[in-house]
Amino acid sequence: MAASDSSKPFIPLSGSASDGYSRDGRATATCFCGAVQLEVPTTKPGLVETFVCNCFDCRKITASMFASNFVVDDRYITYIRGRENLTAFAQSKTIATGNTMTNYFCKTCGTLMNRVSSGYPGKSVLRIGTVDDFNLHETALKPRVEQYAKTRVEWLTGGRGLEQHEGAFF
Ligand SMILES: [Zn+2]
Ligand SMILES: [Zn+2]
Repeated sequence: MAASDSSKPFIPLSGSASDGYSRDGRATATCFCGAVQLEVPTTKPGLVETFVCNCFDCRKITASMFASNFVVDDRYITYIRGRENLTAFAQSKTIATGNTMTNYFCKTCGTLMNRVSSGYPGKSVLRIGTVDDFNLHETALKPRVEQYAKTRVEWLTGGRGLEQHEGAFF
């Protein structure tokens, strides 16, 4: 759902932190327990892409049926707190491109924050759902593309208005 006025931040209680914000093309992304908080760009050029992915890797790592991602240029990320509370796990076995993907999780609550691919140095892939202003999920961070449609679960239909790709796009 979107708040009735999508021009203003809509920051419902979601997880333990309640100090998220969004203003001037920047917004907080916070883990479930609140220990880790980043400030990320919500406009270009810092915001690079927004997409949904149904690949098997995204399904497993999000413990869900698809991932809702946005890609940012690392130079535009500010760590507000908890960078030392991130733990890294990297592997390449299930990455279709063969790249190594390093995943940074909150050590306390397990929320996946940044994913960094060896094939895209200087960029981080984050989950749209970690962004505290939920109106941004419907506006600036709304996925533009949906990829790996061929492995979408059959009981879901594609994202409305999203550019569809059967396999890899990003
Ligand atoms: Zn956490
Ligand atoms: Zn994926």
